[in-house]
Amino acid sequence: MRALDKTLPDTLADLLGASKVVADPERRLRLSRDFYRYSQVLEERLDGCVADAVAFPESESDVVAALRFANGRGVPVTVRGAGTGNYGQAVPLEGGLVLDMTRMDRVLEIGDGFMRAESGARLGAMERRAREEGQELRIFPSTYKKSTVAGFVAGGSGGIGSVTHGQLWDGNVLGCRLVTAEEEPKILAVEGEELFSVVHAYGTTGIMTEVTIPLAPAVEWTQLVTSFVALEDALHFSDVLSRDDLVTKRLVSVSEAKIGPLLNAYAPIFGSERHLVLLWVASEDREKVLSAVANHSGTLDREIPYGEHPSLSDLSWNHTTLWARKVDPTWTYLQAAFSADHEEAMGQVREIKGRYGDEILLHFEYVRGAGEVFPAALPLLRYISAQRIDEVIAFFETIGVSVANPHTHLLEAGGRKRQRYDHIYQAKSTHDPGGILNPGKLRGPVEARAGSEVDA
Ligand code: FAD
Repeated sequence: MRALDKTLPDTLADLLGASKVVADPERRLRLSRDFYRYSQVLEERLDGCVADAVAFPESESDVVAALRFANGRGVPVTVRGAGTGNYGQAVPLEGGLVLDMTRMDRVLEIGDGFMRAESGARLGAMERRAREEGQELRIFPSTYKKSTVAGFVAGGSGGIGSVTHGQLWDGNVLGCRLVTAEEEPKILAVEGEELFSVVHAYGTTGIMTEVTIPLAPAVEWTQLVTSFVALEDALHFSDVLSRDDLVTKRLVSVSEAKIGPLLNAYAPIFGSERHLVLLWVASEDREKVLSAVANHSGTLDREIPYGEHPSLSDLSWNHTTLWARKVDPTWTYLQAAFSADHEEAMGQVREIKGRYGDEILLHFEYVRGAGEVFPAALPLLRYISAQRIDEVIAFFETIGVSVANPHTHLLEAGGRKRQRYDHIYQAKSTHDPGGILNPGKLRGPVEARAGSEVDA
């Protein structure tokens, strides 16, 4: 780790204005962290990392000034939104400067089917604005109330809405303005294929100052909590529903029965006997969905008006891990994709439960990715050791369940199949020749080829 640069806060205060710079050690530490502590492996690796200074740009020219200065001095720059990422993406491994983008949070334009916002705009606020105009976000993470649009684009993958609209790589980012870290920073308008250089790239290829995302027409939603005696029935129902294009839906989330009591940390409404399927469906499709629930031997346990507590968004995606860890911090998790073929996926479920029992509690989120509907999964995993995690991942992969490993801060070692490293490496070499952007997160083409887990 680099030695602390004690002069950095003062120099930045001269450059940007004192109100935009934080030197206080406690705040610097807090703003140097994200939610990597869901992984005991990352906790051990990243806990000591702290920025020398944190700056809050209020305009694109502040970002340009900070990057020009950092380039001249060889200071590492790690950009952050709300800091809700799970892999230490926003942790400054080599100290230096953290740029917190949350003061750049204006919605700039809403048109028919799109919204343009500053990069630090919160997705929750964007959803509210879109709905005022009769539209809504297509996809967002379960942390949307807090997380920023650029943080989602650069650090996330998919979430609520992905069962219909896919993931970030499926046309869910329309464009961005990107500041490069060249000696004289450039401001680029990025669109089309070039967006693959910023999607899930951890801010290693430039700093987004604006992002344009697509919108869908607003839907009147309802929240349904349904349950099933057999996990097979819960999964079969979810598979059929997720493929049914005549039902409008935003969330199909399945948790095996033993997860119910853990979710009670948020809302004490779940038993431990029945497997849960949490749904956001269009109110006009309610009857159709409930008759499919009954046809699969399920029941409607509770209906919650949209917008009222408990919100099922707070009980799905990685929020499940959050509540489990509140009950017992020895839980951690994996991110996986089961087979798109339902029978094959059921075979994978049986193999995993047969081998690991309650060391793994299964949790699925149905997703449409690259045109295919499949059960993505964020299974809870009892933490035993880093070696045990590796062994579990290896077993998942031998039975055809692909894993995006959340226990590494290295982009390539995460092993996301949809990542376009060619675009990322190209952008990295031209936009950041000095390697100052979020150093240590990207191994790069030569090192990546030598690594075995890269699957791009
Ligand atoms: P940060 O964590 O601040 O940053 C994420 C990455 O983006 C970092 O590498 C950062 O350097 C980079 N970045 C930030 N701003 C910029 C910028 N302006 N330009 C370039 N790069 C930038 N993720 C999902 O995809 N789906 C989910 O459903 C989901 N659920 C979650 C649930 C919980 C409980 C938690 C803790 C996390 C979850 N996440 C999920 C992860 C995370 O919340 C989301 O990906 C979120 O969108 C990240 O946004 P953020 O503003 O917090 O980004």
